[in-house]
Amino acid sequence: MPRDAFTLADAREPTIEIVCQPCGRRGSYNVERLIAKYGPDVKLPDLKAILADCEKTRSFSIYDRCKVRFVRSYEP
Ligand SMILES: [Zn+2]
Repeated sequence: MPRDAFTLADAREPTIEIVCQPCGRRGSYNVERLIAKYGPDVKLPDLKAILADCEKTRSFSIYDRCKVRFVRSYEP
């Protein structure tokens, strides 16, 4: 299978932080704990949506979709 996204196992830092400005959401997560919960193969873009737990991540309109992003880039 081609690797089209980085996974938790690729995160180079002990914690990852997400922020969603429109929702006022911000969080910091321990990577080891995330791996224990979701597994090392979870893709970072998917994880972002899971962590944000924002209604707008499931919005059908791309203009109304959640703007959650990682505070820093965790990709190698
Ligand atoms: Zn959001």
